Amino acid sequence: MSEGDPIEYRMLQETVRRFVKEKLAPHEAKIDEDDEVDLQLIDGLKRQAIDLGVFAYNLPAQFGGPGLSVQEQCIIDEELGRSSMPLAEALGHLPGSLRFVSNAQRPWLLEPLLRAEKTVAYALTEPSAGSDLSAIHTSAVRGEGGWVLSGTKHFISAAEHADFLIVLVATDKSAPLKARFTTLVVERGSPGFKVLRRFRKMGWRGHPLSELAFEDCFVPDSHVLGEVGQGFDIMMATINNDRLMVACRCVGIAQALYDLVLPHLRQRKAFGKALGDHQAMQFMLADCDVEIDAARLLNQKAARLADAGHPDFRIAASRAKLFASEMGGRVADRVMQMFGGSGYMADLPVERFYRDVRAFRIGEGTSEMQRLQIARHALSKG
Ligand SMILES: Cc1cc2nc3c(=O)[nH]c(=O)nc-3n(C[C@H](O)[C@H](O)[C@H](O)COP(=O)(O)OP(=O)(O)OC[C@H]3O[C@@H](n4cnc5c(N)ncnc54)[C@H](O)[C@@H]3O)c2cc1C
Repeated sequence: MSEGDPIEYRMLQETVRRFVKEKLAPHEAKIDEDDEVDLQLIDGLKRQAIDLGVFAYNLPAQFGGPGLSVQEQCIIDEELGRSSMPLAEALGHLPGSLRFVSNAQRPWLLEPLLRAEKTVAYALTEPSAGSDLSAIHTSAVRGEGGWVLSGTKHFISAAEHADFLIVLVATDKSAPLKARFTTLVVERGSPGFKVLRRFRKMGWRGHPLSELAFEDCFVPDSHVLGEVGQGFDIMMATINNDRLMVACRCVGIAQALYDLVLPHLRQRKAFGKALGDHQAMQFMLADCDVEIDAARLLNQKAARLADAGHPDFRIAASRAKLFASEMGGRVADRVMQMFGGSGYMADLPVERFYRDVRAFRIGEGTSEMQRLQIARHALSKG
């Protein structure tokens, strides 16, 4: 938030901050320790988010969301960054590809998601295709009244219990990228669809990532999202919003860490004075302070461009995602150092944030992919 922001922004921030503090924070440590989440708990929290009017906060009003501006969505994402990935699910950040839902698909797909009766995951990444989506092998061939899907997807968030999987598949392998892929909705329990395994991982505990197999899995025509051959455009349509969402979550993590370390620097004494009176600690704190502010400003700039429908939003989102995800790692590292041994212990959430923030340099386009985009953009100008 900045001086001069509308009062509604501040009210939104306060509402979500209170929800995170009162409803989500009490569950964070146990979920992290168990690496499991109670689905009924998340369902209950989703209902409370629906009552607050913020559920599915990233969807426009015509798709049943609260119709918030991107600047408002950023406020929510920054507050959610203070919590953990499984609990942030309570506010229902739904895949942007749902903006391509047809009228016929609304009653069975979109509406149950908006009522938090069903859940959805999206599956792009494969063992041989991550950053390079042109290498996607998973394919679907025409069958009677639909498509027959075969292939493997991996690292898919929250797919283990999802009722719907939005899957990017090649439907014409010889076509150029823009016409090669289609987005199919696979329902849980469809014959030929299996969750093969859950990955063990560094952070995001309680938020499972899975490997999925499709073996001659039939998907009816009614379950094509958008048009056949439109998959690439569907994926690209909201990728910048997702990158900005990550950038805001990273600022939220960094701000939470900063807020934790400040009282520690004032209270903890070493060599006869407060830690905060030692210049080495002051320098680390100052670097955190400046970098958090810089990241937040990049996020706000990207959000304003998005709300204005400006084409520079694409590159602004890449800059924001690159800087904030790397900044989050640096802040987590410094804050752990300022806490000393207690930062490394699980009594405090510092080590959890340290583990969790690392994933954001990889998901939604790695740092290297952002650097490539930014450099190409710079070189193409003037
Ligand atoms: C916590 C988490 C959650 C995820 N959730 C999902 C999900 O819900 N759905 C989903 O579909 N996927 C998900 N993913 C997968 C994620 O999108 C991919 O891991 C990511 O896109 C990178 O792909 P990759 O892992 O195959 O790495 P690769 O693409 O193999 O990259 C490996 C390294 O090579 C670098 N590299 C690749 N190409 C180039 C190049 N041209 N120039 C320079 N460097 C390059 C990369 O930057 C990276 O450092 C998730 C991943 C994580 C970690």
